[in-house]
Amino acid sequence: MTVEEILIQETFDRDDLIRLLSADEPERRLIYKKSSDIKEKYVGKKVYFRGLIEYSNICRKDCYYCGVRSGNTSVKRYQLTDDEVVEAARFALENHLHRWLSNRVSGTIKNLWKPSAIYLQRSKIFPAENWA
Ligand code: SF4
Repeated sequence: MTVEEILIQETFDRDDLIRLLSADEPERRLIYKKSSDIKEKYVGKKVYFRGLIEYSNICRKDCYYCGVRSGNTSVKRYQLTDDEVVEAARFALENHLHRWLSNRVSGTIKNLWKPSAIYLQRSKIFPAENWA
């Protein structure tokens, strides 16, 4: 099947994906065009900025593809305090990142997130509707 034929389908099977991943340069341009068309259909020509607060890179899991997996001993680990999370959120708002979300890697100390979230949501500066 050609790349053009694959791209008019609604879903792709394994062979389609293998074919798309091995596309040559002219075929890749077709894929980029299709991607651009889909993006434009759903969000238009706007660009949305979001602030992402990565409040920790400590993880107990060991997903092999991941740079911060627990088995990677060369990573310098960090964990923001609640005050640092608030400061990062304040920076995002002051820089017009009015939609923002926080992130933590899985398997971190779970109770760190909850106090930060409650603190931020209770503060009038960070209304819940700004959370994504
Ligand atoms: S941060 Fe996420 S992807 Fe990375 S090792 Fe932990 S669970 Fe896996």
